[in-house]
Amino acid sequence: MLEEYKSKRDFSKTPEPSDNQSQKLSNGLIYSIQEHHASHLHYDLRLENNGVLKSWAITKIPINKQGTKRLAIQTEDHPLSYYNFEGNIPEGEYGAGIVKIWDIGTYKLKEQKPMLIKIEIAGKMLIGTFILLRIKNNPKNWLFFKM
Ligand code: MN
Repeated sequence: MLEEYKSKRDFSKTPEPSDNQSQKLSNGLIYSIQEHHASHLHYDLRLENNGVLKSWAITKIPINKQGTKRLAIQTEDHPLSYYNFEGNIPEGEYGAGIVKIWDIGTYKLKEQKPMLIKIEIAGKMLIGTFILLRIKNNPKNWLFFKM
């Protein structure tokens, strides 16, 4: 599941983790959002699922307020150890730019269907029930919002 992640990166050049190290929060499934100052500032949502981090690039700052929708573009699975990565991806490398943690905590999966994922987030910035809703015309495009 990490082939795409690995194929996009040169680990002799980027400080990003190359694979899963068993670096885990004490209990619960990992949730984090990383502020990524790439060519366009975006917010990378990470959710632990089956040994990897399912990932979405949220195009604007997420809001802990009901109904404020954000476009979330699904990206490649990341290794678990990525959840608290912070650093500077060098110029010329995939995703070049500074990565900082924006929010970190755990989540519970409440419901999962092909078009909808319902989660309960326990972070510091985002707290409560959130929805990822797949947009029909592009399987990588989702809406992310608080319920
Ligand atoms: Mn990113």
